[in-house]
Amino acid sequence: MFDSDGLAERNLVEGRSCGACNVCCVALTIKDPELQKAQGYRCGHARRDNSCAIYATRPQTCRTFHCGWRLLKWLREPLRPDRSGVLVRISGGKPEPGEAPRLGVVFTLLNKAALKADGLAESVAAAVAAGMPVFLGIPGPPGYTSAQGQINAFLEHAVCTKDKAAVLRILRELRAAGSSGPRTRIGVLS
Ligand code: SF4
Ligand code: SF4
Repeated sequence: MFDSDGLAERNLVEGRSCGACNVCCVALTIKDPELQKAQGYRCGHARRDNSCAIYATRPQTCRTFHCGWRLLKWLREPLRPDRSGVLVRISGGKPEPGEAPRLGVVFTLLNKAALKADGLAESVAAAVAAGMPVFLGIPGPPGYTSAQGQINAFLEHAVCTKDKAAVLRILRELRAAGSSGPRTRIGVLS
């Protein structure tokens, strides 16, 4: 669990806390001097109740990371990662030639059930409608990279016509297509 301390707290959504969630203690690749682990492996410092055994001295990545659910008010409330299976992260969008970099969001579907998460379609649609670069992430096996791709173009018509069923169908198809994509083993110590 990556509950906040220090300056980062100022930017967090009021009323949302990590609680018993520790999705990022599993889903992140951490390459800090004190801790290296590849995504998909539960951190060895996570206790059975999901609290952190080294909370006071946890690495910098753990001190500074917050998922999108903690940072973005427009993400629907039910999308807390441990409850929804959806991990949202902020990413730098790839700018068009001559454009400034734009903020993007990555919706990583941690499991198949994530497609049924309450608020997923609405949150993805809100990001597309706002013109943000939106990416879909599909984790590989533990220790391997995720598949990730930008999905705005696939969703624009469904979002324009407010067709929630179509948004979910397209997400389902994209997840299925990306699930068998190539993965690379993560060398955390490199
Ligand atoms: S994934 Fe988000 S809500 Fe869950 S522990 Fe990490 S920062 Fe907190
Ligand atoms: S050190 Fe603590 S906060 Fe960081 S990943 Fe491990 S259990 Fe989570």
